[in-house]
Amino acid sequence: QFETSKLLKSLPKQFFASLVKNVNRYIMDGYDVINLGQGNPDQPTPDHIIRVLQEAAKNPIHHKYSPFRGFPFLKEACAKFYEREYGVKIDHEKEVAILFGGKAGLVELPQCLLNAGDIVLVPDPGYPDYWSGVALAGAEMYTMPLKAENSFLPDFEEIPKEMEEKAKLMFINYPNNPTGATANLSFFEKTVDFANKHNICVIHDFAYGAIGFEGKKPVSYLEAVGAKEVGVEIYTLSKTYNMAGWRVGFAVGNPSVIEAIELLQDHLYVSLFGAVQEAAAAALLESQQCVEQLVDMYESRRNVLIKGLQKIGWDVTAPHGSFFAWLKVPEGYTSEQFSDLLLEKAQVAVAPGNGFGKYGEGYVRVGLLTNEERLQEAVQRIAKLSMF
Ligand code: PLP
Repeated sequence: QFETSKLLKSLPKQFFASLVKNVNRYIMDGYDVINLGQGNPDQPTPDHIIRVLQEAAKNPIHHKYSPFRGFPFLKEACAKFYEREYGVKIDHEKEVAILFGGKAGLVELPQCLLNAGDIVLVPDPGYPDYWSGVALAGAEMYTMPLKAENSFLPDFEEIPKEMEEKAKLMFINYPNNPTGATANLSFFEKTVDFANKHNICVIHDFAYGAIGFEGKKPVSYLEAVGAKEVGVEIYTLSKTYNMAGWRVGFAVGNPSVIEAIELLQDHLYVSLFGAVQEAAAAALLESQQCVEQLVDMYESRRNVLIKGLQKIGWDVTAPHGSFFAWLKVPEGYTSEQFSDLLLEKAQVAVAPGNGFGKYGEGYVRVGLLTNEERLQEAVQRIAKLSMF
């Protein structure tokens, strides 16, 4: 019966909540739904990581509050991970902040760096949490269209002068959710140049940093010369190690931004459960064979889905990274009409592209988040609709 705050009312509608509700209705009614709509990894966390958690949970030191900004051993592990994977040197004391998952960092950063009315450059289509962070900071968005003809990269030339001048922050994300596009080093170099020229802080969301196909390992934003001077990268263990439920991520890069996140977090929480921090460090430092297997698995699933859909006549292209395929809907349907139709007539759940922004209209996002047999079955069910 209480009136909620203006701040709460200003938040964008949580699009995925209504998607899940709709799918659940079908499941409750007894339908065998193939749910490719959400971005929830379907595989368990590797055993060696769980074993470290089990052992560490018995250590009474972890039953107390952990240090506010996280254990130094985890920050050191993050720095070693970046040096090993990307050849980027990181000062673990000044250039790493531990996060409750990538989402926390993405939502907190605008509040750390912006004042009401400031402009943020946000990709469209893009991950909706960027909008939440901007709204919580009372800032304004200028959307950068990601178009197929530009390989789903933003074109900085298209940004009006006035926005370049006013913008304080920019979100980018490769491998990209929802388009499955990847970026190369030269794009990140251009990004650093642009950010330098206009005094903009770059936030590169590297949630799918491990998942690149055809042997092409995704490039880190921090590999670009000067990247650390103008931005940070947000890494998460959610997708790389199937640890979405564990809530572990970290921000890495510009020391003044890192200090700002830590300062805000000092007011919001004490750090992660210490045993989770030990297991996270093990994930980053121990054998990465599980990651190679994961990437192979997603690539096989991608091939099954895309080849299957092409065979039934749907004109689709394969993603280069992430675990999403971004598919153009047939003529005559909006994204929502088409996804409703797939759910209703084939019990295949996908995410309508317009949920990711205006430029997502005309697409659906399909998660590679079930096994090959189920993906094949999804293709067969779609084939029966005889639409292509
Ligand atoms: N960024 C992107 C693009 C994502 O798709 C996700 C999760 O789906 C996240 C960030 C957040 O991941 P987490 O909060 O689990 O680290």
